[in-house]
Amino acid sequence: MRLSWDGCPCCEAQDPGSATGGIRRRGLLGTLAAAPVLAPVLAPVLAPAIARALPAGLVQGGLATGGLAQGGFVAGRVAPGSRVALDGRALRVGRGGEVAFGFGRDHGPEALLAVTPPGGRPEQHPLGIARRAWPVQTITGLPPAQVTPDAEALQRIGAERARLAAARATDSPRTDFIAGFLRPAEGRVSGVFGSQRVLNGQPRQPHYGYDIAAPVGRPIVAAAAGVVTLAAEFFFFGRLVVIDHGHGVNTLYAHCSTIDVVEGEAVAAGQRIAAIGATGRVTGAHLHFSLSWHQVWLDPAPVLPPAPLG
Ligand SMILES: [Zn+2]
Repeated sequence: MRLSWDGCPCCEAQDPGSATGGIRRRGLLGTLAAAPVLAPVLAPVLAPAIARALPAGLVQGGLATGGLAQGGFVAGRVAPGSRVALDGRALRVGRGGEVAFGFGRDHGPEALLAVTPPGGRPEQHPLGIARRAWPVQTITGLPPAQVTPDAEALQRIGAERARLAAARATDSPRTDFIAGFLRPAEGRVSGVFGSQRVLNGQPRQPHYGYDIAAPVGRPIVAAAAGVVTLAAEFFFFGRLVVIDHGHGVNTLYAHCSTIDVVEGEAVAAGQRIAAIGATGRVTGAHLHFSLSWHQVWLDPAPVLPPAPLG
């Protein structure tokens, strides 16, 4: 018997070696709003509650943040000319002081942000990274071939994984991320970031995307301005597009029916780039949307305009 589900199991093959397991609690895929509408306004990257949790000096320094939590994305500005490092890793700082960073699904409870203003002394800001409880999604009754790809498929998947990693390694001086993100499609949220997949009793990679179920052909738009770094057809993802938004920040759009852009093309926020489809490993038409920073998958939900209730 084949059970249907709305999400996509594609993510499980993306990141070998990233943490699986560790999720004991059965959560709910709840809090999913129905019938979102494409929001015409940009979501503020700043989540006020998170900003209040930041060291006062950092907020006064103009750094707006949106996610001191597992899966969280942080973007904002420091004084132009500052040097910024996260856990000892130097971050790009834009000419206007733009910086971006994020925390993976399984990030530990602490991080250290060091900001050195021009001509000033280094300021150390210990950051508390909130732990999140990830839902568990158990799917049984799948055909074994769908759970475990054959050798030929595995070879193809490996090559595609490398190609995707190369696209996602793009680290450009663009600062498109600072303007925030649009919802990339209208539709029902059918899958959330971080959920642990258990297919036929086997724990698999967590789901690193945000799924929007919608009819085939509905437009998919760029969540932010940027440059297309990948436009291809993959085994798991089907037809997909990756867009670089600068400083290692990129978004991914998968399972498209058609792709309207080519690699190297500059796109505007809200520009149509593809259409909803059911290509790749899916059980129904939807968009699998991902946000990442330097190969770290992040939760898109907090940076998108809220899904309208319907
Ligand atoms: Zn997905």
